[in-house]
Amino acid sequence: MNRRRLSSQFDERWHELSIPAGTAQWAALDRRYLQHGLSTGRDSQPLILERGRGCTVWDSDGREYLDAHGGAWLTQVGHGREELAEVAAAQMKKLEHFSSPWHYTTKPAIEFAEALVARAPIGEARVRYSTSGSQCCDEALQVVRRYQWLRGAPERTWVLTLRGCYHGCTYGGAALNQGAIAAHGTFDGMGPVGGDIAQLTPPWPYHQELYGGMDLVDFCVRELETTIERIGPLRIAAMFGEPVMGVAGMVPPPDDYWPRMTEVLKAHDIPFVADEVVTAFGRVGAWYGSSYYGVEPDILVCAKGIASGYMPIGTLIIRSEVADVLEGDYSGGSYGGHAVSCAVAKACIDIIERENLLENARERGLQFLQELQPLLDLPVVGDVHGLGLALGVELVSDKITRTPLDD
Ligand code: PLP
Repeated sequence: MNRRRLSSQFDERWHELSIPAGTAQWAALDRRYLQHGLSTGRDSQPLILERGRGCTVWDSDGREYLDAHGGAWLTQVGHGREELAEVAAAQMKKLEHFSSPWHYTTKPAIEFAEALVARAPIGEARVRYSTSGSQCCDEALQVVRRYQWLRGAPERTWVLTLRGCYHGCTYGGAALNQGAIAAHGTFDGMGPVGGDIAQLTPPWPYHQELYGGMDLVDFCVRELETTIERIGPLRIAAMFGEPVMGVAGMVPPPDDYWPRMTEVLKAHDIPFVADEVVTAFGRVGAWYGSSYYGVEPDILVCAKGIASGYMPIGTLIIRSEVADVLEGDYSGGSYGGHAVSCAVAKACIDIIERENLLENARERGLQFLQELQPLLDLPVVGDVHGLGLALGVELVSDKITRTPLDD
């Protein structure tokens, strides 16, 4: 008797849940079936988004929002481009995918690799495909250590990163971040995450207190030199860095920071891996953040905006001398070089060029930065900063001590 009552209650509930009629029911289904791994937990109600056009999105109640975030900093060409849907459909009808890490390839994978390399500040290079920023950072970590091993320097295992960096949520990415998600949280409890990582002071112009009264760039360069000396240059595999630190708060370094840092790395034959997951493809008003700063990385890691979020895709663009050593080395997965993603990503390049979106990001970014300046009068706004359309407002509880505002 009891069992029957329970089961009929369940049927009623199931019926109610599986025929959603409005936002409340979708929200109930979301709570029941989804876990939002980067959110604050079950108490916060997610926004249910239904459609988008340009910079505008609408929720399931028809409310309109300005997507100032660009999705997850990746909607470079805006929402709702039918032309991209058509490119995807045409490619799917022809051939949806064949994995490029193996000995297969497709015309879209080849064409997009050529377009990536042609715009990269790296000279001769070859592309490895993946599917997300985290996966690419993970693969880049494997690749730099394998590169050293394959070229007869197996003791080069140490990797340098910046405190407050974010290189993703995989074990490798989390190792590079040293288990921290910038100021936002930690990956505590995930067990040991990749050894031999040394973290350096980040270039953060607002936080002059980090540099002990020295010029920021002089301090960072000296710290890099002493760290290399301490670990031993012949034990260092690579340095990873975001041209503009993203998750930390969209913090552009002084213009001479990366040129001077990479000069030191080059002098010690230490490859530089530019994590351009956020900065590539127009976000900072250039194809790559490295081009803006005038540096030539050995590996460029790109994801997010390269197909503007219409399809998942990530890439490693590897300088040929490094790629030659890695030839035949195992890395990559089933979805690498996805033909639909590559076709859509190439069409995004065409849109960015046709509509001058790099220039637009520079101009709108400057205008936005200027118009944000009055926020500095507020007691909780310590700084506004940014490059192109990667802008950040730094919230503080005390402007003198520059203490971050509590969440
Ligand atoms: N690298 C940087 C610099 C990032 O900002 C992010 C994500 O925000 C990642 C890597 C991870 O990319 P994904 O979220 O596509 O895994």
